[in-house]
Amino acid sequence: MPFGTLFTTTTHPYLFRTTRYLTETCLGATFRYFVKPDGFSGFSYLDEQIQNLYGLDRDQLLEDAHLVETIAHPEDRHILQNLLQQILTQTQPIDMEYRIITPEGQIKWTKVYAHPELQDNGDWIWNGTILDITERKQVQTILEDYNRTLEQDVSERTLELEMEIQERKRAEISAKRAELALRQANQKLESLATLDGLTQIANRRRFDEFLQHTWRMMMREGREMSVILCDVDYFKNYNDTYGHQAGDVCLQQVAMAMQQTVQRSGDLVARYGGEEFVIVLANTDAEGAARLAERIKRTIAALKIPHSTSDVSSYVTLSMGVCSMVPKLTVLPESLISCADKSLYLAKHYGRNCIVADLEGAQRLDLPFL
Ligand code: GH3
Ligand code: MG
Ligand code: MG
Repeated sequence: MPFGTLFTTTTHPYLFRTTRYLTETCLGATFRYFVKPDGFSGFSYLDEQIQNLYGLDRDQLLEDAHLVETIAHPEDRHILQNLLQQILTQTQPIDMEYRIITPEGQIKWTKVYAHPELQDNGDWIWNGTILDITERKQVQTILEDYNRTLEQDVSERTLELEMEIQERKRAEISAKRAELALRQANQKLESLATLDGLTQIANRRRFDEFLQHTWRMMMREGREMSVILCDVDYFKNYNDTYGHQAGDVCLQQVAMAMQQTVQRSGDLVARYGGEEFVIVLANTDAEGAARLAERIKRTIAALKIPHSTSDVSSYVTLSMGVCSMVPKLTVLPESLISCADKSLYLAKHYGRNCIVADLEGAQRLDLPFL
């Protein structure tokens, strides 16, 4: 049922009773407001509830509708003025909320619904209700405050969490940095532990590990491996002639030349001790090892490191012993070294600056059984 008809049909007994009931029990006041074509306007009806709501005399309001402006809350006066303006000019229903201050000083929230109807005589009639919505507003304010507090709590917690996340990320980054630094330090330590301090090639410890590893690998694969033992000829004389420091430099040069000649990843050049070097060659038979030994001999010769007190050459030379075999479970890897050592001994015996390869391998040796 359209809102306006509630008032225009109050002549019907049932509807009249309903209207009375509504106006008496409703938390607000119903009204009818007229606007004449010449702009003259005012209340033509106001129920008694207006007294409770506005605290203004109903009859006085009926005489002068603009009295309502006297109780408008200063902050909401513009809303009321806008409302009165709309009533004069507009033909669309009105729905507005604003605060009033009753003559007793009580602040109330009110809501005005009004529906316009054009009369036959050209007047506009606005039928409407003014509701006291103070309680609803209070609840709404409490809810808004609560929501605001909640939102604030949530945003504070979010901020805290974001800060925590940032803190954790920073901690993770510094932990990663520390881990990296530790890994680098360990790598450095590891390489220090496996490098010879003078020549910067693999040391004896690294050689021992590498020999064991290559031995096992070649045994699994049933392939041949070789070692070359190298010894600088007349090196005692070298030291005596040029001094110990020059001897050190000579060893560094020899080591570097050997390292550069032996390039395969399965090979290792190490300082065996003093002026002796050892080369481990995976997947290499005696012939291959002897060819490499020849290459090393030529490389060292090309260095032309003067050695005036050598009985075999004017330059630094090496004697080399080569031994090769397919590793067996019954043989110790050290046997390969002692075999190469025997070949080296022979090389020294044959006059130095030469290579002796035991082509028969370690088989001829009296090998210990495990
Ligand atoms: P051979 O031809 O029979 O091998 O004679 P050699 O003089 O080379 O052999 P010997 O074993 O008599 O002497 C090896 C010398 O190597 C003695 C030692 O002082 C020297 N030597 C060992 N390690 C180093 C080192 O790190 N630096 C220097 N400068 N000399 C070293
Ligand atoms: Mg020696
Ligand atoms: Mg020597």
